[in-house]
Amino acid sequence: MKKLTLLMIIASVIFASCMQNEKNDNPLLNDFDTPFGVPPFDLIKASHFKPAYLKAFDEQKAEINAIINNPEEPDFNNTIKILAYSGELLNKIGRVFGSLNSANTNDSLQTINREMAPISSRHRDDINLNDTLFQRVKSVYDNRDELKLNDEEKKLLEDTYKDFVRSGAALSPESKEKLRKINEELSMLQVKFGQNLLAETNGFKLILDKKEELSGLPDGVIEQAASMAKSLNMEGKWVFTLQVPSMTPFLQYSDNRDLREKLFTGYFMKGDNDNEYDNKSVIARITKLRVERSKLLGYKSFADFALERNMAKTPEKVFEFLGQVWTAALPVANAEAAAQQELINREGGKFKLEPWDWWYYSEKIKKAKYDLDDEITRPYFKIDNVMEGMFYVANRLYGLTFTKRTDIPKYHPDVNTFEVTRNGKHVGILMIDNYPRPSKRGGAWCGTFRSQKRDIDGKMIYPVVTMVTNSTMPSTDKPSLLTALEAETLFHEFGHALNNLLSNITYPGSSIPRDFVELPSQIMEHWVLEPEVLKVYAKHYQTGEVIPLEIVDKLDKASKFNMGFTTIEYLAASLLDMEYHALTEPVDLDIRDFENKSMAKYGLINEIKPRYRSTYFNHIWGGGYSAGYYSYIWCEVLDSDAFQAFRETGDIFNSEVAARFEKEILSKGGSGDPLAMYIAFRGKAPGIEALLENRGLK
Ligand SMILES: [Zn+2]
Repeated sequence: MKKLTLLMIIASVIFASCMQNEKNDNPLLNDFDTPFGVPPFDLIKASHFKPAYLKAFDEQKAEINAIINNPEEPDFNNTIKILAYSGELLNKIGRVFGSLNSANTNDSLQTINREMAPISSRHRDDINLNDTLFQRVKSVYDNRDELKLNDEEKKLLEDTYKDFVRSGAALSPESKEKLRKINEELSMLQVKFGQNLLAETNGFKLILDKKEELSGLPDGVIEQAASMAKSLNMEGKWVFTLQVPSMTPFLQYSDNRDLREKLFTGYFMKGDNDNEYDNKSVIARITKLRVERSKLLGYKSFADFALERNMAKTPEKVFEFLGQVWTAALPVANAEAAAQQELINREGGKFKLEPWDWWYYSEKIKKAKYDLDDEITRPYFKIDNVMEGMFYVANRLYGLTFTKRTDIPKYHPDVNTFEVTRNGKHVGILMIDNYPRPSKRGGAWCGTFRSQKRDIDGKMIYPVVTMVTNSTMPSTDKPSLLTALEAETLFHEFGHALNNLLSNITYPGSSIPRDFVELPSQIMEHWVLEPEVLKVYAKHYQTGEVIPLEIVDKLDKASKFNMGFTTIEYLAASLLDMEYHALTEPVDLDIRDFENKSMAKYGLINEIKPRYRSTYFNHIWGGGYSAGYYSYIWCEVLDSDAFQAFRETGDIFNSEVAARFEKEILSKGGSGDPLAMYIAFRGKAPGIEALLENRGLK
């Protein structure tokens, strides 16, 4: 009898493994049989996702059941470690879906997203709220002092335990039921927010058909608008969109005040037009549910909940920090507004400066003061050259080499793929996707199709990283020529990419706190305009001439120009985020009223709008920056101070400092405590001084 059972088990194991090796006609369910195991984009169809997701949910359920039904006493290996490795298929599919849905979406993907959001939410809750599983995790956690764990294992154990508690595992059955409902509704609202926003962004176009309406616009900008019109079958006209590379130059240069107002109003009213894509009720509901959820879990507010795991720890700390910078920056912004009004008056304009005038007049003042504008520098920032520049910096700092590959599947023709190596050894794959299109959401980001880790047997898994921007497109007769700011954005996202590429951890799933993850990205921005770096990459796209020293000098002098505005519009958005998420009662908000009152409280001047108004603030409603938009300037304290570590040696490529930065920060990902990691790199915690100096706010 015994023998027979054993035979049957062996037979079924063999059968199971045959099934695994057998080719499925759904490519998402097969091993990716491509160079470096990148997703086989050419084979993946939208219709593959749903069945793959359902299979992946089942697979993880089975893995979780195996953990729960294990008769052995719970320990690190049979519970924490194996749990960390569960859901590999789901993770694999989720990463492909998430990346495609952000960078190259379509109606089918959006439908699947709407359909899968509540099912995914239920699946996560089935795991997070499973009491038997939680009791096993808790028992390992309660015995943690007796276990001989290394630092990464300790962090994994603590994070796993806290994640369960923060997901509601310790709640009563009734509260758990309530939580499930909230989570499900939230997941659907977040999807709705993003889909409304994409529709609103694509829905507005400023179409011009008279030459005189182009007054003030540089040739390059006009060509871009003509190319855009052509691509929309409106040959002979000029089209400006709400995408930043199209909108900003128009606001900077157009002499036509009414058209500037029209375009900018289109932008800042996104999601607030009382139409079918209006986001006000969506975010009012999200806010309310987030408060309810946080209170259910025992927190005063959503911000208290979210910040507990961040470097800042409490909302009070964030408000205090933002307040300090606000106080330093507001007088500077006021002075900038006064200078613009003075120019308007001097020119005989009989009107008050409005938000849609800011770019135009600041550009004029900048030009008069520094004899510099974007059109002077664009020819030196051809996108391929800028990428060469960032690769050069990564090579000098970390010894990385980037080789273009054309034999690797990609999800869109605009994608450029690079193999990253060090001393001839494979490090990872980097995909770069730079131009706006209706299927791509706005902004810039970095993600992974596969993150670095070691598999359950300790074998290295190399990362496949994707970097997405919305940069100036090539036009009919010019390559993509970037503004200095766009070049900086490329370096920024590349910094995230390096963090992923140089990650050297064991377990999957550790995440870097929001208010630390911008350190690796923002530190890269410090190299972009360094003369030593510019002379390598900033070459005129036609003549090959290196950017003249005189322009470099102007760029340097102008780098602190308009910093009052830049700081205040950013801080206003950060404070708006905090105001929503520091609410301690689940109230029904009137969004316009709440936004106005929140901004008035800090004395935001009328001439400046928050960088994101509520109805299109994707970071905090759709993305992962809820009660976290402050992170960028929080991290600037870190990156300004960290870059000083290079400067102090007199060599911005100092290899010892770079090696320490890689060892203590980049390679550790989310596997350590951020402040401890920073101190290990720098020897001390940073102060706010370098930040204020950097922005000229001292
Ligand atoms: Zn970033």
